[in-house]
Order: sequence, then C-alpha cells, then structure tokens
Amino acid sequence: MSESLFARAEAVIPGGVNSPVRAFRGVGGTPRFMAKGEGPRVTDEDGRTYIDYVMSWGPLILGHSHPDVVAAAIDATRTGSSYGAPTRGEVELAEEIVARIPGVDQVRCVSSGTEATMSAIRVGRGFTGRDKIIKFAGHYHGHGDALLVEAGSGVATLGLPNSPGVTAGATGDTIVVPWNDRDAVTAAFEAHGDDIALIICEPVAANMGVVPAADGYHRFLRDITRDHGALLLVDEVMTGFRLARGGATELLGLEPDLIAFGKVVGGGFPLAAFGGRREIMSQLAPVGPVYQAGTLSGNPVAVAAGLTQLRLLDADAYARLDALADRLIDGLAEAFSDAGVPACIQRVGNLFGLFFTDTAVTDYEGARAADHDRYGRFFHGMLAEGHYLPPSGYEAMFVSTAHTEDDIDATVAAAARVAATLAE
Ligand code: PMP
Repeated sequence: MSESLFARAEAVIPGGVNSPVRAFRGVGGTPRFMAKGEGPRVTDEDGRTYIDYVMSWGPLILGHSHPDVVAAAIDATRTGSSYGAPTRGEVELAEEIVARIPGVDQVRCVSSGTEATMSAIRVGRGFTGRDKIIKFAGHYHGHGDALLVEAGSGVATLGLPNSPGVTAGATGDTIVVPWNDRDAVTAAFEAHGDDIALIICEPVAANMGVVPAADGYHRFLRDITRDHGALLLVDEVMTGFRLARGGATELLGLEPDLIAFGKVVGGGFPLAAFGGRREIMSQLAPVGPVYQAGTLSGNPVAVAAGLTQLRLLDADAYARLDALADRLIDGLAEAFSDAGVPACIQRVGNLFGLFFTDTAVTDYEGARAADHDRYGRFFHGMLAEGHYLPPSGYEAMFVSTAHTEDDIDATVAAAARVAATLAE
C-alpha cells in the first residue's frame, strides 16, 4: 500500500512528500505511509506496526495520540477552530512559556519553527539596527531564505550546499562559521563587528546528527555577542521543553536575548513561538515598527493541544525521558561494540544521535565524514525488525514518555541482530 500511495504521491506532490527527509532519499527505499499512531507505536498503510523513534521529529514527547492532548484538541475544535481574534488559551500558553524559560518576558506565537527563527531574526535586526547574522554550518533553523546556507537536516541529507531560488541578496548578510570553532567567530566579529545583529545557534546541534557544544562554547558566544552589542538567538525548536522544563536554556544555563520554540510547544499541531526580553519583543508591531503577523497564529486548537502537553511535562516526565534515553543509548552502544562496528552515540539529556565513526563528531565536516551508507543499512535492518528510526544519519532520535522499558529492550535486541550484519 505504501508503494502504490507513493507512486500516486509522486505524480502530484514533488518527490511524493511534503518535506524532503520523509522521502527516504538518505537511506533509499520507499517511505512508509503512516495510518495510525498510538503511544510509542506507528502503524503504516500495510498494517505493519513499528516502535517509533521519530515521533513526528520531536513534537510528540508524550507519545502519539495522548488522550489528554487529543481531548483538548477536540474540545477546542468543537468550540471554534479559529477566530482571528485573541483567545484566553494564547494568554495561558504565553504565561506558561514565560514561567518556564529564564529570561523570556514575552512571546509571540507563529505556526512553524521556520517562522519562529525568521521572525526572531527580523526583530533582532530591527532592535540592533544591524543587518548581518552569524550561523553555524550544519545547524538547521527552518527554510527561511537567509538561513538556507550550509543548513543541516534535509539539506544535509540531500547534500545540497545552498538552495537555488535563494538570492545572493537574501544570504549576503549571513556569515557561516564552523560549530565549536572560536577563532572563526572571533574573526567574523573582527571583520564585521559593528554590523552583526546576532548569532543564531541550536543550543545542541541536532540537525547534523547530535553535536553538543564544546565546554565553555556557549559562554564564549554569550560574551562575544555582548561585547559587540550583538544579540544571542538560541533556536530551541528541537530542545525547548524537551531537554528540561526550561529547555536547553535552563539545562545548560544559557542567557539568550531571543529564543525560538517549536515542536513540543505545539503538541503535534502547527504551533511555534519566539520570545525574549521585553525591550526587544516590544519592537514588534503593533507596539513597535517590526512587522510580523499570521492568520492562524496562536490557533486555538494548536494552543489547546500544546498547553495540555506542556502542563503534563513535569519533573517526573523529564526524569523518565532521560532514563529511557540512558537505557537505549547504553544498549545500542553495547550492541555496536559487541558487533565490532565503530559507532559514536552523542547526546545531551534525552536528545541523542548515532554516527557510524570511531571519533567524536564536533562539527559539520565530522558529521559528513561518518559512514552514512552504513546508517542506511542499519536503518533498513531496524525497519524490517519493526523499529522506525529517522530515515537519515543527520537526524536525532526521539523517545517519548509513552515508550516503555520493554520497548527499549526490544529495540536494543533488534539492534544487536542488525549490528551483526553491518560489520562488512
Ligand atoms: N529549528 C530547528 C532547530 C529545527 O530542528 C527545525 C525543524 N526540524 C526548525 C527550526 C524548523 O521548524 P519547522 O520544520 O517547524 O519549520
């Protein structure tokens, strides 16, 4: 059924998918068309069930179809799916985010992570009156024009350096530097210091596999931006409300001026947000001159689902996610070591990724040098065993509170069998 749906899809949707990584180009084969998700499992159109480690690429931190999240969305839909006028839920969601995230005074809702980073950059440029931004190679911040340079995720999977259709003008103010490289950032500030509005980074790079910041690197980014009157924009679309109650900002003790949120904040619905210090956020229309808007921004259904999910994410939930990740990471590491397959699992909290390489990966170059063919073989071996991993070696893996220890153990046992076939 996936085969025939994919054939139909390819006729009417470019590549058969609405987002490139779904097409399995990084690993080969036909994407599975999903029909159902329940807890930690997904079932495809052919009736095959998999333990899921994609979890919609992060949002479903409580598992698929969590009953409370579903009920909240249904209730909200019944009373009105969209008004284009403010609602109580938006206030409560903003209050919840502000209460959780250190340093965030105000937030505004948008509908995707792409919009969140794009809008945060706009307000950062408006606030500083400067044009240039620094981004890191292999970091992905959505598909906004200015950010589609050496981006991670699907761009990395497909091996595209930059995208046609993005003008030189749109990326002309984007300076790309290697992640974890201090000299390159220092050199950029030496060359362009007074023109740099902000640095944007993923707090834990997780769109080129998972590549944590080196010790002291975040402190360095904070200090150098402050010294030059530039802002620090931390893209917590992946890490926000996942790594901890207050995201990477809390877990790693960051002091960003602006933060982008997405994924978990929307509970599996199209909702994202950006926020920061009041003096910066008050540059936004209608208070200030920086324009930003959206017909479906703060959509009541998405807000109800997201708020319900956030309220269920207490200290116990994070402890559980971390413990599940520990169990899976330890089990996978043992499986690869027993099979004599060089593998490097990198993590921060419950966010982790797998590289087939024998050296730690610290930047995009290292991520590209890993054995992605072997990842493809591992992926397909696991898929055949009923375990749905990200269909690309440049992506993170996601656990949810709905996964059980038995699920993890089943995945580890399958990984041991598949690892034994990977040695050659
Ligand atoms: N930033 C980061 C860190 C992301 O991981 C992503 C998506 N994977 C985005 C931004 C873009 O979010 P969206 O796909 O919702 O536009």
